[in-house]
Amino acid sequence: MAFKKKPMQRKKRFNTGIREQSQCRFCREKIDYVDYKDIPTLSKLLTNRGKIFSRKRSGNCASCQRKVKFAIKRARYMSLLPYSL
Ligand SMILES: [Zn+2]
Repeated sequence: MAFKKKPMQRKKRFNTGIREQSQCRFCREKIDYVDYKDIPTLSKLLTNRGKIFSRKRSGNCASCQRKVKFAIKRARYMSLLPYSL
């Protein structure tokens, strides 16, 4: 019996778990200032080791990610969020 070669029919999976959104969460709620005291919102944008999620992972736009970055760094300085765990 000859070995029959199966054609490769594997599809590459894109965007597993990450859904692309038309607008980021801060633009949708029309927030122009990300508060550093808003720990429940900021902690959603951190990994469980205390690192900031990338823009692709968090789904933020460039300007909102910059605001989030400064807010998290300010919250870390005020010891509201950890630098690392
Ligand atoms: Zn935005």
